[in-house]
Amino acid sequence: MRGGDHLTAPAPTPIRVALWLAAQGYAVHPLAPGGKVPVRGCDRCSPGTAERPNPAYTEHDGRACPCHVAGRPCHGVLAATVDPDRIAQWWKRTPAAGVGVAAGPSGLVILDVDCHGGDMPTDLEMLLPGVELPADIAPGSVVDGRDVLALLVEVRRATLPGCAPETLTVRTPSGGFHYWFRAPAGTVWRPQAGALGWQLDVRAGSSYAVAPGTVTRDGAYTALGDCRTVAELPVWLARDLERTGHRVRPERPRVALPWRPRTMGGGYVAAAVESELRAVAEAQPGTRNATLNRSAFNLGTLRAAGHLEHDQLADVLRDAARHAGLSGRETEAAIRSGLSAGARHPRTFTGAAA
Ligand SMILES: [Zn+2]
Ligand SMILES: [Zn+2]
Repeated sequence: MRGGDHLTAPAPTPIRVALWLAAQGYAVHPLAPGGKVPVRGCDRCSPGTAERPNPAYTEHDGRACPCHVAGRPCHGVLAATVDPDRIAQWWKRTPAAGVGVAAGPSGLVILDVDCHGGDMPTDLEMLLPGVELPADIAPGSVVDGRDVLALLVEVRRATLPGCAPETLTVRTPSGGFHYWFRAPAGTVWRPQAGALGWQLDVRAGSSYAVAPGTVTRDGAYTALGDCRTVAELPVWLARDLERTGHRVRPERPRVALPWRPRTMGGGYVAAAVESELRAVAEAQPGTRNATLNRSAFNLGTLRAAGHLEHDQLADVLRDAARHAGLSGRETEAAIRSGLSAGARHPRTFTGAAA
């Protein structure tokens, strides 16, 4: 059966898919056979539905549920694991269970491009909020999420993921696509629906995606082409995801500042001074010199508006720089040149901002 081999090749069984994913560090959890929602948990962990609440359910925090220690797949994505023994146990019990991949624990950011028709937003600006679109979009040329992604790729002069760089791309039964990306080291992302653009959702953090090889009543999730590796989130896309609120930034404790910037200038100027000094004091290694330079420049531009003295500004900048671990001749030079350059571009405040 030359040429027809792919038709007779055995489809990967869910357990093989789950073990293959786990071996690469992706945390998986079982989905109800034929569906795309997680398998029902034990009686104590399943609230039931609004119409049919489960009387045995006891309200509790799924993140600290003892069922996970006991190896039960309760609370869906919260049960996800890379442990091959546990995975084998789950899928031996329910061989037809589909495979869910927990995005956050797997370090994945998955771009979910929908393709389910529906009415296009009448306001074109809502296609990609915050992105300046080309003026010549033909009416009717944007039908679904694929077109919206193509627009974004065009505006950013980027390359469509899935082509270059290659990354695992999954076609969904409704004709949509899941582009899988690795979150850059040290970054944390949150899921959102439609924040990036119309029919562009993001699976990250506490959400999950259906793994390729899973067959539901609506059809199969299949990996496109031969690419089975996951590329790192492209920089241009990471920027857009950050801009649209998908990036989770850890709350850093605020540095206690040794000076009283409120005495410098008034109102808006004082607030601006405080935020510049804070930026310098809290700057991370690698960005400290650049931050000092920029802040010295910005404070220089405020001199005229705030009636601030050059020496006074140099003093507080030096304090802030010392806080960040900077001192010495280079630091002095950065402060002096930044303040002078800024002073040549005085900022003026008008109206309510004055
Ligand atoms: Zn349970
Ligand atoms: Zn529980």
